Amino acid sequence: MSETRAIIYWLRRDLRLADHPGLAAAAASGRPVVPVFIHDESVAALGAAPAFRLGLGLERFGATLGDMGSRLILRRGSAPAVLQALIAETGAGAVWWTREYTPQAITRDSALKTALQQAGIEARSFGGALLFEPWTVETGAGGFYKVYTPFWRAVSQREVSAPDPAPARVRPPEAWPGSEALSDWGLGAPMRRGAAVVATHQAPGEAAALERLDRFIATGIGQYDACRDLPAGDGTSTLSDALSLGEIGPRTLWHRAGEAAHKGAQGAETFLKQLVWRDFAYHLMYHTPHLLSENWRPGWEVFPWATDPADPGFVAWTRGRTGVPLVDAAMREMYVTGRMHNRARMIAASYLTKHLMVHWKLGMDWFADCLTDWDPAANAMGWQWVAGCGPDAAPYFRIFNPETQAKKFDPKGRYRNHWIAEGQAEPPRAALSYFDAVPRSWNLRPDASYPPPIMALDQGRRRALSAYASAFSQG
Ligand code: FAD
Repeated sequence: MSETRAIIYWLRRDLRLADHPGLAAAAASGRPVVPVFIHDESVAALGAAPAFRLGLGLERFGATLGDMGSRLILRRGSAPAVLQALIAETGAGAVWWTREYTPQAITRDSALKTALQQAGIEARSFGGALLFEPWTVETGAGGFYKVYTPFWRAVSQREVSAPDPAPARVRPPEAWPGSEALSDWGLGAPMRRGAAVVATHQAPGEAAALERLDRFIATGIGQYDACRDLPAGDGTSTLSDALSLGEIGPRTLWHRAGEAAHKGAQGAETFLKQLVWRDFAYHLMYHTPHLLSENWRPGWEVFPWATDPADPGFVAWTRGRTGVPLVDAAMREMYVTGRMHNRARMIAASYLTKHLMVHWKLGMDWFADCLTDWDPAANAMGWQWVAGCGPDAAPYFRIFNPETQAKKFDPKGRYRNHWIAEGQAEPPRAALSYFDAVPRSWNLRPDASYPPPIMALDQGRRRALSAYASAFSQG
């Protein structure tokens, strides 16, 4: 007799209908489906901006499910306990989910799978978060990739299956279990004043992400090569928030960009390569989970990075007051919008870890608190890559000079003027909004004078290089 009991579909970072293999399979089974999101320890550990953005995403996805006669059940607690309670309440015979790849998620999900199976409940996990499962990409010698270019070569010719269409219907259960109210979770509360400002720069939900993708394919991807490095423009997809919460799936992007490449769109291949950096970050995190917390390259423990969060350089950096306009503009863009342009991320991270010699972990944690597109693997890989201690990293002696970078990528100062109010007679609204977003205790005012550089660039560079030389000549 075929199974008819309900499926509990545990949603995590996959808040979408289309390109969602597990949900498509659940809908196609014809069995009742109980979609649930659990506020567990992984949610409690989120930084302020990612938690706030998650709240927006959950609200939107709950409404989407509601429109098709389903619901999003919200429960708080440790996942195994919540799921056991839901099984008892609904008589469900299965728990399905999309795989996640952080070490904590792998430990949690493996233990859960065993416990459910022992209790006679079907436990099934699906792909869908990545283009390529991390264990399926192997070097000729059977190992994993540590360098991006051969990783790209290994995957670029692979077949990526077409994304599943959004299910027309997800069968509801006879009776719905109770749900908590999203507003009671206070996911935006830690953002305090910033929430109202950042909210105006957000477009949460699957429909918004698909619209953004349409626009980018129609008007952006052709110029991606030429424009993606200019922080003042609109030269990139800005889909990282949606990818990070799974409001859009990577296979959707892969196929749409692939079609654009076939039609001759200039920047499509470069875009596909950037998208594959995301998979590469997951590949690295899966095979070397210490990417998230320790210097990826052994031997870097001797490097004398500052580790005190009260370090004046670090404090000035977090507040967009280093006196280096390109760095300060980047930090303010992040505080106001929840995002930072990729080139600006590299410059701000390089300045912190090299000119100021502050530990990359402090920077990574600050980004994890401020980015609405926070992604554990991409953030850790990005920081370690810039700092020089990561896989495929830029050599330490390659230090971005923010002034040279500004001449090259922001020649007319559009980006800097957009974000830095001090010194402008009529600052733009975006620059002013920074002062509405920051905590009052920072005591920042747009009519104050802009600070002189906290560290002369050539002095910072020389100091970093000499620290590098002495750290690594020791042994
Ligand atoms: P597009 O240029 O349109 O690229 C499309 C997608 O490809 C992105 O949305 C993203 O998912 C992926 N991608 C592009 N570049 C990279 C990259 N270098 N590494 C991994 N994936 C990439 N990205 C995050 O999503 N979350 C983070 O927390 C994050 N932290 C970073 C920290 C540092 C120090 C650095 C240097 C980079 C970080 N990145 C992070 C990578 C990158 O900056 C962003 O993915 C990108 O700026 C997002 O903008 P977009 O969606 O317009 O990208």
